[in-house]
Amino acid sequence: MPKIGGRAARAAERHWRGVVASEGLAAGTVFLLTPQERTADVAATTPHKERRRLKRAMEAARRDIARLIAKTPEPESAHILDIQLRILEDKTLIGPVHAAIAAGASAAQAWNATVAVDDAVDAPADAPYLTARDSDTRDVRDRVARLLLGRRPAVPPLGAILVAEDIGPTRFLEIDWSHGGGLALTGGSRSSHVAMLARAKGVPMLVGLAGGAGLVDGAPALLDAERGELVLDAPAAERAAFERRAIAFSERTGQVALYLPGPAVTAEGERVWVGINVAGPTDLDGLEPSHCDGVGLVRTEFLFQGAGRPPNERRQFEAYERIIQWAAGRPVTFRTLDGGGDKPIAGLSPENEPDPFLGWRGVRLSLRHPAVFRVQLRALLRAAALGPVRVMLPMVTSPDEVAAVRDLLDKVRRDLKTHRIGFGKVALGIMVEVPAAALAIEDFDADFYSIGSNDLIQYTLAVSRGARDLEALARPDHPAVLGLIERVVAHGLKTGCEVGLCGDMGGDPRYLDRLFDLGLRSLSVAPAALARVKAAIARIGRPQP
Ligand code: PEP
Ligand code: MG
Repeated sequence: MPKIGGRAARAAERHWRGVVASEGLAAGTVFLLTPQERTADVAATTPHKERRRLKRAMEAARRDIARLIAKTPEPESAHILDIQLRILEDKTLIGPVHAAIAAGASAAQAWNATVAVDDAVDAPADAPYLTARDSDTRDVRDRVARLLLGRRPAVPPLGAILVAEDIGPTRFLEIDWSHGGGLALTGGSRSSHVAMLARAKGVPMLVGLAGGAGLVDGAPALLDAERGELVLDAPAAERAAFERRAIAFSERTGQVALYLPGPAVTAEGERVWVGINVAGPTDLDGLEPSHCDGVGLVRTEFLFQGAGRPPNERRQFEAYERIIQWAAGRPVTFRTLDGGGDKPIAGLSPENEPDPFLGWRGVRLSLRHPAVFRVQLRALLRAAALGPVRVMLPMVTSPDEVAAVRDLLDKVRRDLKTHRIGFGKVALGIMVEVPAAALAIEDFDADFYSIGSNDLIQYTLAVSRGARDLEALARPDHPAVLGLIERVVAHGLKTGCEVGLCGDMGGDPRYLDRLFDLGLRSLSVAPAALARVKAAIARIGRPQP
């Protein structure tokens, strides 16, 4: 966790940057939630008494969680809390605790020593691969530890801006959010259970908070989970402007939510396909499939991160199956591993690449490891027997890459046939996110194209995606970027090959008119952007007052 002490923040350091995990704006005072002290300072009595102590604490934890389930209306909360109840019943968790008690430890010592969860919660916030299970186990562990040690959790004042490294789902649900407030985490992840709960409850939330100073208890703060920043000690004019934006935000979200259930249709009645982008299976929890036309992008990297070695075919198949089943007949586009760049994959990405964004990324990395790639293609082909599946290649630069993948797919199909293993048909598409692919689009033998505006902007304008101070230069409406998009869309219209856009530009209502004018009729956006995108589409073609 970065240092969050210090007295007066210098003006330039008043602004902390973070990644938006749940949109919204909140003004309040900072409340620092420090990690819970888990030192087991309770002396052991007899093993029998310690086992009883543990049993009582676990029963109390169960009752706490059941109470939370009873009082939270959102189905996603109940589902997450249910997972915690199951963790408490997990025999593999309790066995070692009992063994440590039998060896002379107190219940608290045994619990803290054996319920091991990796506390290094510093997965980058824009690479949301922190496992939700770890965060849930950590939450359960801390609750039982608290009960064993007789400690009470800190109660933040109403409407506070909570700042912590990370918090567990039950801690989040215990806090009274009815008077506003928000959450800013120096760790955390957009796809964590807490982030899902924050979105469901409309609590503004940032993760990966970094870069400022002066973060002390009681500091007046503006949590801007639209632009991704936490501003401390803002001057009066900045506070007033923020208040105005907060009012506009709540009006807007109230209105746009009405568009969520219906199809995306312009004011002139033209239908636009709008799918969602998914960075992991937990992103779907609490989402209604009928609110979208399908999944336009599954970032399969979540399966490859943090594991130390690539996931086996069964693990991949099960993850793909879950998404296909969720989509209930709607098409799902799985992007093959987009490793490298800002997402190095242990064991696959070369060490010390001089410039990873121009190195072994996307389909290049997969083709460099054909044995690993083949496993992913096999799992995808098998999953395609369960519903409409499309396979999409990231970072394609040269037509040879597509040809090489077609060859590999043919080999995998032959192998599956030989072993009488069922598989389905897949369309093979490419991401258009390197200017070379857009410029030579006619040469790419793909079944569909999906414009990756995030990378297309970075590579066209030579502006790194991660450089926050260069953000103003990364203009989606730069003529060069629009020119490339126009070229790809025109080629699609001419040949009948479908063209969509799955980068963040598609989720930003400021650019939708323009994209529509260029002929684009297919978008895939972050689930949080779905309602506002449909609302913006409904305005396209509406006569101006
Ligand atoms: C893109 O580059 O626009 C894209 C959708 O891919 P990612 O953000 O995962 O690189
Ligand atoms: Mg990309």
